[in-house]
Amino acid sequence: MTLEKKRRKAVVDRSACVACGCCVKVCPLQAIQIVRGITAQVDTETCVGCGRCAKECPASVIEIREVEA
Ligand code: SF4
Ligand code: SF4
Repeated sequence: MTLEKKRRKAVVDRSACVACGCCVKVCPLQAIQIVRGITAQVDTETCVGCGRCAKECPASVIEIREVEA
């Protein structure tokens, strides 16, 4: 039997992100940053999928998804 591990991660729709930085301020782990001043980027190694950033995003461009560990 294969045990499948799934982890929750934040995924940003970069084309729709307005780089407001709200997600950066609420992440307890500093797992999301604004890169090149234009879009948010998630460090998937650090992100624990808590969903705070997604809740805070005024443009609703962050989704919490289950990904393979
Ligand atoms: S889901 Fe949580 S840990 Fe991951 S980037 Fe968003 S606020 Fe940070
Ligand atoms: S809160 Fe949303 S729109 Fe603002 S920087 Fe983060 S992902 Fe982009």
